[in-house]
Amino acid sequence: MADSNSKQDLIVGVDLGGTKILAGVFTPQLKRLQTAKLSTKAVRGFEEVVERIARCIQDAVDEADFSLKQVKAIGIGAPGAVDPSSGEVVFAPNLEWSKAPLKKALEKRLEIPVFVENDCNLCALGVHEIELHGKPRHMVGIFLGTGIGAGLILDGHLYSGFNRTAGEIGHMVLQVGGPKCGCGNKGCFEALASRTAIFRNLQEAVKAGEKTSILELLGPGQSLADLKSGDLRKAIRKGDKLVEKIVEDAAEYTGVAVANVLNLLNPEVIVLGGGVIDALKDEMMSIIVETARDYAMPGTDKGIEIVASELGDEAGIHGGAVLARQRLKSASSN
Ligand SMILES: [Zn+2]
Repeated sequence: MADSNSKQDLIVGVDLGGTKILAGVFTPQLKRLQTAKLSTKAVRGFEEVVERIARCIQDAVDEADFSLKQVKAIGIGAPGAVDPSSGEVVFAPNLEWSKAPLKKALEKRLEIPVFVENDCNLCALGVHEIELHGKPRHMVGIFLGTGIGAGLILDGHLYSGFNRTAGEIGHMVLQVGGPKCGCGNKGCFEALASRTAIFRNLQEAVKAGEKTSILELLGPGQSLADLKSGDLRKAIRKGDKLVEKIVEDAAEYTGVAVANVLNLLNPEVIVLGGGVIDALKDEMMSIIVETARDYAMPGTDKGIEIVASELGDEAGIHGGAVLARQRLKSASSN
């Protein structure tokens, strides 16, 4: 290990997803030094996932030629309802966790302070602090991936609501009696515009006999569900009209959701992110912005920016680092 490295304090941000774990090593000034990725293997259960998170953090720190002893705090985003004060993941359907003591288990394993938040809240925090330099007083981050979630920054602070579940924008109903959602309801935003919804619509269209070139991207034994958002972009750029139409529909619903947010909260900036937006920015953003301005109450959207995040899938680890630094600071000033 280089000598100059050994005295550097570090902060780690972790994005825990249903399929993968991403860990990032940061300086206290929040400069990102290194990342590492590992599959989650949620089916193996809580203990094993905790072990994999620890391993992923260790890998990221090791790759950057640092030691775990230099890490002063870890901020981690989990997909579901989180109690940030106890660090417990109250409910995370993608991981099949309920009342999982994530903070406790990781602190016991690594002997480093751990702070837990909802993943979309952390993504919003990362975008607000790192990408927008903490400037907007009011910002909403909407993240489209396997599911859809949001994080709200109101009056400069993360807003989490009475039961700490604010920002569940994916379950805002946009089509009464529409397609069934994972939450049990019908016509939720998530059931209309998430990656899952886009591929379900594609599957149904193929079943109904519509033609698409995207099937050519399938490897042996693969089904449509194995494809990624980037494959949708490839198909559209090759002139696939069916994929283009389905992605445009998703963009239109997203625009309607953005208009609802505009009308309700009137934030300065609405940022869109997540895997779907990251892969399909060029195909979706102009439709989203146009639809949102169309549906917003006249005059309410004046001067408001509707933009795509540049942080891509690193928003979560950046947010994790921001959270860890905030908590460390408030602990040292008490
Ligand atoms: Zn729902």
